Amino acid sequence: MQPFVYNSLPSRVIFGSGTISRLKGEIERAGCSRALLLSTPEQADDLARIAGTLGPLCAGTFAGAAMHTPADVTERALQKVRECRADCTVSFGGGSSTGLGKAIALRTDLMQFAVPTTYAGSEVTPIIGETKDGVKVTQRTLKVLPEVVIYDVDFTLTLPPRLTVTSGTNAIAHAVEALYAEDRNPVISLMAEQAIGALGRALPAIIADPHNREARADALYGAWLCGVCLGSVGMALHHKLCHVIGGAFDLPHADTHTVILPYAMAYNAKAAPEADAAIARALGGEDGTSALVNLASRLGSPQSLKSLGMPESGIDRAADLAVQNPYWNPRPIERGAVRALIAAAWAGDTPTPLD
Ligand code: NAD
Repeated sequence: MQPFVYNSLPSRVIFGSGTISRLKGEIERAGCSRALLLSTPEQADDLARIAGTLGPLCAGTFAGAAMHTPADVTERALQKVRECRADCTVSFGGGSSTGLGKAIALRTDLMQFAVPTTYAGSEVTPIIGETKDGVKVTQRTLKVLPEVVIYDVDFTLTLPPRLTVTSGTNAIAHAVEALYAEDRNPVISLMAEQAIGALGRALPAIIADPHNREARADALYGAWLCGVCLGSVGMALHHKLCHVIGGAFDLPHADTHTVILPYAMAYNAKAAPEADAAIARALGGEDGTSALVNLASRLGSPQSLKSLGMPESGIDRAADLAVQNPYWNPRPIERGAVRALIAAAWAGDTPTPLD
């Protein structure tokens, strides 16, 4: 076994169905009394219902969260924090709502309660990406890790099928890259394999019946583990590509992850044989790449960057951006091979492992 360093992340996790009823007690347990509730505009109705259950513990609501944590939204939310003299936040929703809670915590140290409703995993990571003047800057700091996470499977029942697939695949991508991370360790690798297996079984069952609670619970459990993977070890080529391509061409976050994942796996498979074998074990299949391709086809996932709106003329720019700054990856980052990967992903060609 290779030597390793393992850091566990301090967060309290409550998981189940109907667990939103625990929120009030959790806020009191933490000694807080004035919560500002956060969501996207689309989830404002649910947010208002949750606010109603908190009574005087709810100091206010802000339903303006947006993708990629724009600085102007954070400024408006901070204004609301001051107006209602909040002493904690409750982020309700996907990575956009969680991101806003993190941005507030970064500046105020307010305690965070997160109630995730997608599979993005941000609620258990010490990572924040913020956008100002079109540039997204990402940093890692324990200041942004939510203290309490309440996973309530019931809220995920409304996650539309396409978002279920792309958000679930976004989660799988965290676990895939954790398996071949430079700082991988046996505990996180166990979680990663278990997470990929849970999501690999759950997502097809959810597509067949979006109200299948058992499958929804498995998917949310898998997503939690994937989030822990993302928060605990470094990521590589896949996350780099999604970051630069998604940012440069304003592509939807989870869809971009879904398209790129099998191509990034094909790029790294031969250089990361243990990860490849773990993914094949978790999903069933001969190798990691074909297992991911088969899952995508069973789920009817988006399969090309072209279909997400990336222009063909952007392939070279994307390749330049992806190789601009050095970073660790199991297979060396070579511009020619990276360009070929992006061109194949743009067209939706079948991903094949590189030698
Ligand atoms: P999102 O939070 O933007 O949600 C997408 C849409 O789905 C929104 O309109 C939202 O209101 C809606 N929605 C969410 N849950 C729903 C539900 N259960 N039912 C119906 N509608 C629902 O999308 P996301 O993919 O969860 O998050 C993406 C953002 O999170 C990006 O900004 C990404 O960079 C960030 N992210 C950060 C980390 C991290 O560790 N910092 C990790 C993953 C993602």
